[in-house]
Amino acid sequence: MNINKSIELFQRAQSSIPGGVNSPVRAFKSVGGNPVFISKAKGAYLYDADSNQYIDYIASWGPMILGHAQGDVVKAITEQAVHSTSYGAPTELEIDVAELIKSMVPNVDLIRMVSSGTEACMSAIRVARGYTGKNKILKFEGCYHGHADSFLVKAGSGVATLNIQTVPGVTAGVSNDTLTCAYNDLDAVQQLAATHGHELAAIIVEPIAGNMGCILPKPGFHEGLRSLCDEHNIVLIFDEVMTGFRLAKGGAQQVLDIDADLVTYGKVIGGGLPVGAFGGKRHIMEMVAPLGNVYQAGTLSGNPVAMIAGFNTLSILNENPSIYKELEEKTIYLKDGLQQALSSSEIPFVINQFGSMISVHFSAHEVTDFVSAASANNEVFKQFFHAMLNRGIYLPPSPFESWFLNNALTTADLDKTIHAAAESMKEIK
Ligand code: PLP
Repeated sequence: MNINKSIELFQRAQSSIPGGVNSPVRAFKSVGGNPVFISKAKGAYLYDADSNQYIDYIASWGPMILGHAQGDVVKAITEQAVHSTSYGAPTELEIDVAELIKSMVPNVDLIRMVSSGTEACMSAIRVARGYTGKNKILKFEGCYHGHADSFLVKAGSGVATLNIQTVPGVTAGVSNDTLTCAYNDLDAVQQLAATHGHELAAIIVEPIAGNMGCILPKPGFHEGLRSLCDEHNIVLIFDEVMTGFRLAKGGAQQVLDIDADLVTYGKVIGGGLPVGAFGGKRHIMEMVAPLGNVYQAGTLSGNPVAMIAGFNTLSILNENPSIYKELEEKTIYLKDGLQQALSSSEIPFVINQFGSMISVHFSAHEVTDFVSAASANNEVFKQFFHAMLNRGIYLPPSPFESWFLNNALTTADLDKTIHAAAESMKEIK
């Protein structure tokens, strides 16, 4: 595959952008090689600067659930843009979005729009601290809640991909206020709550983890967190930045039947534009300014172009809930096909899948937490990644990321992917 223009662009980018990219994992640092620079996308396909076509399993790290450049979404964005791209004043559209979210997620009483998942999570933590009057939080090793200081302790995603143990710039004070447990280890959380419950403001968790590959919660894990939070007056925050509006209308809360106190959104909620949100129970969200004194604000929060993209994406999902079933069926089809394709080699592997999230770890053992994810054979992953890329299959360039399916994928695309996986395994040394 000729990627000469991407090579040229990556060299050029490095003299003006740190590492040549605006978000670290895009640089392919852990898998090696030159990242492909994308020039356009439509439906399930990306096209790079050299006009190579790829079947996209990143979906912009989740948002593009309907596929790229979806007709209704593009039309709505274009129509809004001619009426200006930002007002910095309230609009009816923001109420429409909030009401739509509340109708899709019944336990959200109040919701505040922000511009990224990071902002949503850091704001939710501030609200939890304000509400409980406590300082510490508990997060899970390998979960990623954005790049705010307190979330970088034992984080997954790019932090794990780059194998960064301690992030310079995060103060000891912040780190000390962030306690961690292994994902799925309810016993450890129970012990920690017994000693630290009185100082814990929040437990923040990815209900289905997607930042150490895709990791499923064990039965009873979230129920256990819920009851510990009730017992110790801790705010349970479901970080649904990945899972929100992707797994079901009501996200993981609906699928797992767990009632979180606060929930954070990003990705799908903005239909590919920069949007995040945090919301939840009225008595907690009433802490947020100007209703309460927990201050939180944003120049571009509720931006009309972003809101119209989100509103149209969410409306399509709301009015066509069969999309979720179709997406899950496609993902199970892919999983079954990959299972067979990868079995043609002796190399052990594990495929984890939940709804339209899926990932492959080259491991002989089940992958249920960060330690098991990190002990997979990442040399094999690198080779697999490049062999797939050369065959026009665009996977996340890290085993610490989930793949996301979009609804524009056809059976022919999935078959091509499965065939590419079988061929790729033949090249792995
Ligand atoms: N929370 C989760 C679960 C995420 O996966 C991410 C990003 O990947 C974030 C929060 C941060 O979102 P953003 O990158 O929009 O700041």
